[in-house]
Amino acid sequence: MTTKSAAAAARATVYGYPRQGRSRELKKAIEGYWKGRVTAADLRATAAELRRANWQELVGTGIHEVPTGDFSYYDHVLDTTVMVGAIPERHRAAVESDAMDGYFAMARGTQDVAPLEMTKWFDTNYHYLVPELGPDTVFTADPGKQVAEFKEALALGLTPRPVIVGPVTYLLLAKPAPGVAAGFDPLTLLDRLLPVYAEVLADLRAAGAQWVQLDEPALVQDRTPAELNAVQRAYRALGTLADRPKLLVASYFDRLGDALPILAKAPVEGLALDFTETAAANLDALAAVGGLPGKRLVAGVVNGRNIWVNDMEKSLATLGTLLGLADRVDVAASCSLLHVPLDATTERDIEPQILRWLAFARQKAAEIVTLARGLTHGTDAIAAELSANRTALASRNSSPITRDPTVRARSSAATDADARRSQTYPQRSAAQRAHLNLPLLPTTTIGSFPQTGELRTARADLRAGRIDTAGYEERIRAEIREVVSFQEKTGLDVLVHGEAERNDMVQYFAERLTGYLATQHGWVQSYGTRYVRPPILAGDISRPEPMTVRWTTYAQSLTDRPVKGMLTGPVTMLAWSFVRDDQSRAETARQVALALRDEVNDLEAAGTSVIQVDEPALRETLPLRAADRPTYLAWATEAFRLTTSGVRPDTQIHTHMCYAEFGDIIQAIDDLDADVISLEAARSHMQVAHELAAHGYPREAGPGVYDIHSPRVPSAQEVAALLRTALKAIPAERLWVNPDCGLKTRGWPETRDSLESLVTAARTVRAELLPS
Ligand code: GLN
Ligand code: ZN
Repeated sequence: MTTKSAAAAARATVYGYPRQGRSRELKKAIEGYWKGRVTAADLRATAAELRRANWQELVGTGIHEVPTGDFSYYDHVLDTTVMVGAIPERHRAAVESDAMDGYFAMARGTQDVAPLEMTKWFDTNYHYLVPELGPDTVFTADPGKQVAEFKEALALGLTPRPVIVGPVTYLLLAKPAPGVAAGFDPLTLLDRLLPVYAEVLADLRAAGAQWVQLDEPALVQDRTPAELNAVQRAYRALGTLADRPKLLVASYFDRLGDALPILAKAPVEGLALDFTETAAANLDALAAVGGLPGKRLVAGVVNGRNIWVNDMEKSLATLGTLLGLADRVDVAASCSLLHVPLDATTERDIEPQILRWLAFARQKAAEIVTLARGLTHGTDAIAAELSANRTALASRNSSPITRDPTVRARSSAATDADARRSQTYPQRSAAQRAHLNLPLLPTTTIGSFPQTGELRTARADLRAGRIDTAGYEERIRAEIREVVSFQEKTGLDVLVHGEAERNDMVQYFAERLTGYLATQHGWVQSYGTRYVRPPILAGDISRPEPMTVRWTTYAQSLTDRPVKGMLTGPVTMLAWSFVRDDQSRAETARQVALALRDEVNDLEAAGTSVIQVDEPALRETLPLRAADRPTYLAWATEAFRLTTSGVRPDTQIHTHMCYAEFGDIIQAIDDLDADVISLEAARSHMQVAHELAAHGYPREAGPGVYDIHSPRVPSAQEVAALLRTALKAIPAERLWVNPDCGLKTRGWPETRDSLESLVTAARTVRAELLPS
């Protein structure tokens, strides 16, 4: 295919870049500052150096316009809160006495003052700090950071484009401040907020900014007519300002939908749209509104949130179509590159053959540059890159890693019957009662026990070769002995082995499944200074050998009480990994489910009567648009059932979920058909128990009665009170007694005392229920 050259030269750009630095220098500097080991001046110098290095790297790759203001010491939404002066009352004094310390106080809290709440940035694994607004909020412009970073880049001779969270998205992400009525709608503050944005824009203009990017990802979610009306008003107001830079309104993570015609007509100079798989509908929608005559279109054709090499011919075809639809077309990643690791070439443990299939931030920047060149000068100008790209894609496509005939045959042979237990819940329940012989209100935990310093040392010793595998495993067994004997002494009914052998609930399984890759340096920001290294679902998934059976059976050998087997479910495995883009998520989930099903069946064969499959991520992977949710929930629940339905009726399947707000997926929770579910509830005062009851949830449930997110030890009386509340919603024969979540982040002392309270409370309430 040969593309004709475009009228205007296409520019290559990105909306943001990983902040941490090659060796996570930013994390080290910030944490050093918190500990008093790094001065504020040194932290600022490190940050400035990282920004400079990022810009130089981008420009060195051939990126024309670099983003500024995307850098953050903690979070870009918190930076926006500072920019608009929406500092919560309780943090005012700290911010006034020291801007940097006040900033970190808002992010992390202090001894006396609570931080801002943190929540997920759309459907990514990045977390932002939620703005707190109320009818009394007074916005004041503080453009300092945006202007300073713009000038830094300008001084380096670059073409910077400031990137700012847009006013509508900012308000839509906010929540009512403490003390403000829950019904307060932050969007009512729009007219007060816009003058502040106008001031920031004027200052950036004065500093020399040609373009400013306003990010409005909230517009890819379902929006009400009132919200869409706010979009129209906002961009009419900003667009008609006298003295302002050109405005590029950016959307990403999905299609723009109803907001597209509004933004297309708004008096702004450019739109940035996502043209990757999930947002492909943008293409037709854009044509339907007659394109963007007179406007600049920035086309996000390189997926900014996965790690796969781009299909350049496909991207060029998309770009070619877009040429007819806008005044000029520039090339970008679909979203900020914040969500991918920095550089694939630093991975030493991944085979070179596979490495060619991967594109991290740096490789994505190069792809964008190549595509822009191809768009401007025609495909002949990028013949070498296109040929290398074709080779990489072909090698991925034909690799035995990508296609394992055995896995595929098994996956396509899986039937609906495989994803159904052989008996109904009432039948299973009777069989399980007879088999397990548990008391009323059985007590259990969610799986992990405290991950002690000794355990982390043991893992570090193993990695460094200071101990061998046998030595490491003996340490794990010693830990299991301790955990089991503690649970027996305390009087818990269904025990766990404690998950001492697991570094992480996804990574542990990823390392043991064929088709999964781990990275050495693939760090991605989760929040603040916390970075994670998501494993990569690279190929067809199979399980070469049992992964957990040894540890569970060892624990079972130490006690007569049932020990619960413990696995991470298929949906969570996908949610916390990079997922392959060459087949549907549903298919990948089915493969993972079948591998896990073998583990479940092996646990049962080894004598495990209770098996828990955790799905904490079921809710968080819910698609952004309601129309896409039924499809997702159908494959997600099917994958869970495929994992768990191969067992006998008298084997009890548990599942666990955290993070409140189950209301909107309660039908899906029911569809999992797990015999027992444990849920977070201690902090929401048993609301979840009532939600389950209102839905008519027919099976057993353990709403958490001990909040493990805090070191606080609940008294037996408190736990008993929660149980009595739960009993109003869930009948005694179906109520379990357990904490909110795993105990891995807790210390031993509070864990001991809290679980003692929990067992005492269960005994007290049991006694109240039994006829004396
Ligand atoms: N079984 C896991 C644990 O106890 C569950 C963790 C989770 O829900 N995030 O640690
Ligand atoms: Zn949990």
